Amino acid sequence: MSSVQIKSIPVNDKPSIKSINPATLASLGEVSNLDDAAVIRAVASARAAQPAWAALGFSGRKKFLLAARDKILSSIDAIALLISEENGKPIAEAIGNDIMPVLDLMTYFAGQAEKILKKERLKLGKWTLMGRRSHLEYYPYGVIGVIAPWNFPFSIPMGEVAMALMAGNTVVLKPSEHTPLIGLKVQEVFDSIGLPKDVLKTVTGDGLTGAALIKARVDKIAFTGSVPTGKKIMAACAEHLIPVTLELGGKDPMLVFEDADLDVASSAAVWGAFCNSGQVCASVERVYVHHSIADEFTRQVVEKTKKLRQGNGQSADVDIGAMTMELQLKKVEAHVADAKKRGAKILVGGEREAQAKGWFFPPTVMTGVDHSFLVVKDETFGPVLPIMTFKTEEDAVHLANDSDYGLNAYIWTKDRARGERLASRMVAGTVTLNDSVFTFALPMTPWGGPKQSGLGRTHGALGLLDLVQVRHIHINTQAAKRNFFWWYSYSPEKIVMMKTLCLALFGKGFSRIAALLKFIGMSFKAKVL
Ligand code: NAD
Repeated sequence: MSSVQIKSIPVNDKPSIKSINPATLASLGEVSNLDDAAVIRAVASARAAQPAWAALGFSGRKKFLLAARDKILSSIDAIALLISEENGKPIAEAIGNDIMPVLDLMTYFAGQAEKILKKERLKLGKWTLMGRRSHLEYYPYGVIGVIAPWNFPFSIPMGEVAMALMAGNTVVLKPSEHTPLIGLKVQEVFDSIGLPKDVLKTVTGDGLTGAALIKARVDKIAFTGSVPTGKKIMAACAEHLIPVTLELGGKDPMLVFEDADLDVASSAAVWGAFCNSGQVCASVERVYVHHSIADEFTRQVVEKTKKLRQGNGQSADVDIGAMTMELQLKKVEAHVADAKKRGAKILVGGEREAQAKGWFFPPTVMTGVDHSFLVVKDETFGPVLPIMTFKTEEDAVHLANDSDYGLNAYIWTKDRARGERLASRMVAGTVTLNDSVFTFALPMTPWGGPKQSGLGRTHGALGLLDLVQVRHIHINTQAAKRNFFWWYSYSPEKIVMMKTLCLALFGKGFSRIAALLKFIGMSFKAKVL
């Protein structure tokens, strides 16, 4: 039985958004598809609520964050069921991959935000002798627009909202139109613990509703989603110089060296490629295995893949649920069809069951592919694992880095020194030795990557710093004592003084000492010291 009710009805001319269980195609409810005016109103009220929210300070805000965390914990079954129903993932993944990481994140930032954002004294070196002092202070942007995807429909929006709130911002959240009920659940959690009015506003709707956040001039956009949408958002933000954090796609490689434990590495490849039906930005999307162990590694991957049980994620004994949206399923089919047409060898999976009702694609393993195949070049974002081989370390590094993306890379070797040496050559935001798809769950570590994988970081101190403005405060502690020689009025003597000071500061040996003495003398004469 479905755990959800129809949540709301259309409030404007846009057709409402329908929520569907991808495993059964049963309707879960409808939500409003909000127009520009509604979003502009939401941003205005979040803006009005921001000063009082910021004024609560870290300890005041922390109480709300921890209360929200406790509410999630006490509602864990209902939230996990809703995630599974609307997104398709198994309940175990809803708890382990969506809910648990965000509980940890909320705990971490409730405790650490004040320390991370504390006033920071800068070392000014020689300028300290002139009585100069500098420090940085961090202050909230104002209203953060969070735009979220459907693949981690709870942990991503909840995590972004929690961090932005702890930093003293208010938030307008636009959840994915494919998982709107879970987006509303984020709002419901905060409403239920008495978060002050308008500190968080959730606006349901499609991409146009998201685009309206920029028209409403939020102070920053924190976006997680696809590369094409990320580019559109960045272009729209450029119009008003609204800063953006972009967490985009990945095509993460796994390198398996000849000394790796093949049993553990093959299990990591299978889980890393197929959890959440492969709809993870950090999925293992390409495996490169040393040619000497390729047959055995591939055999183990295929054997383990054949044992996976696919079905409705709401059943406790299912390993792989439905994909979340039909469009994504079709993209995966197109990638596999392209690979087949070009001679790839499908070792398991490869085709939908004709009579399957929901949006299921079987876990698929293939060989006989290279970097000209769609399934190796583009983000597949589905349960598909292409396996290729390499001969030398140089090959492995080249193949891993030969991608438009750079979110994560995984290296399997028992030789830690080699692993670390190779990790430093990966063009990736995170490189993990001997594990796969893990560090998103570590709130203290930064998340994000170069190239088409995005801009900025979320999580960790760097992620929190992405959600605040920085103010540099500089103090002249001896303001009453002197006029500075670089002020007006200029003269030939001033020019000589400036050149002499350059020599005194940056010259070498005796000429430097001579310049220093000359500068002191000139300063006394000019009465500026
Ligand atoms: P998407 O880009 O289609 O949509 C993401 C969000 O953007 C949705 O809420 C959508 O309504 C909104 N949107 C669409 N057009 C918009 C516009 N013009 N202006 C403002 N908002 C707009 O992405 P998706 O399909 O929901 O998510 C899958 C993608 O997300 C994959 O590429 C995946 O790799 C990526 N992803 C990245 C991370 C990460 O941390 N790097 C995490 C999860 C997912």
